[in-house]
Amino acid sequence: QLSRYGKIELSPSAGVLNYGQASCCLMYLFIFEGLFEGLKAYRKEDGQLILFRPDQNAIRMDIGAKRMCMPCPSIDQFIDAVKQTALANKRWVPPPGKGSLYIRPLLMGSGAILGLAPAPEYTFLVFASPVGNYFKEGLAPLNLYVEDEFHRATPGGAGGVKTISNYAPVSSFFHTVLKALGRAKNRGFSDVLYLDSVNKRNLEEVSSCNIFIVKGNVISTPATNGTILEGITRKSIIEIARDCGFQVEERAIPVDELVDADEVFSTGTAVVIAPVGSITYGDKRTEYKTGAGSVCGELHSTLVGIQRGIIEDKKGWTVEIH
Ligand code: PMP
Repeated sequence: QLSRYGKIELSPSAGVLNYGQASCCLMYLFIFEGLFEGLKAYRKEDGQLILFRPDQNAIRMDIGAKRMCMPCPSIDQFIDAVKQTALANKRWVPPPGKGSLYIRPLLMGSGAILGLAPAPEYTFLVFASPVGNYFKEGLAPLNLYVEDEFHRATPGGAGGVKTISNYAPVSSFFHTVLKALGRAKNRGFSDVLYLDSVNKRNLEEVSSCNIFIVKGNVISTPATNGTILEGITRKSIIEIARDCGFQVEERAIPVDELVDADEVFSTGTAVVIAPVGSITYGDKRTEYKTGAGSVCGELHSTLVGIQRGIIEDKKGWTVEIH
């Protein structure tokens, strides 16, 4: 329903603010100008709350803000707002091992603008919600579908930053991540694995997580070339895997390599690190090793151990909230 020009009331978690789910006519007002972040607070056995690498989220939002012509809170302001949100919601943080508090910082051009120009005012807000597993499968293996019709981002676009408009319109106004994801879910898949939009040949990422393939002692993940999001979990897993003695390669990965991989897994704040049990590309379905003794399992216990404060954080990645 259309209303007269004036202020509108929206939930902080409205799809339009978080995923650019809006019709084109609204977009020039402010919808293209929005960035978000996602991080989690975990409760330790002693009741203390900890955050995982919040400085990295602050830096990523700052890089994104420059790309989107927006001012951004300083790293200290960002971390302080996140800490205060976690503290204010402390009673909602699930007990150890039962989930986490997902924290969503959002930066948007909230000032009214009609001509195509940066908005005159910006709003930075942070909200939070307790969460369990991102996928209904929990730690059970995911079944991915290689999407070769829709693409997530194009070269020269903003695929490398966490802008809200990456999640609805992709390549054209009519093809959307939400649409591709919904279609894959209707067909019984957990999520979509995107290919690059130029050659339709190289792996990019999953809707909200990065992808890794394992072959012997070598772990490969698509290089961040501006069209995929440089995940903080991705970066952390690369470091953990190298510490564990694996050779890690960041490079272009042709989709044909999926057939020969031993293992595939995905990483992200929401999924943490999730094993992939099968990938379907066209009419070919390839199955992968998962479970006990898998590389994903080994990396999972280290990452989760650090994030939840169970194992010593030698890297200084976790921040206690007081
Ligand atoms: N790719 C996309 C498209 C995402 O939305 C996310 C979630 N932020 C990721 C990758 C993983 O990034 P991170 O590990 O920082 O959560």
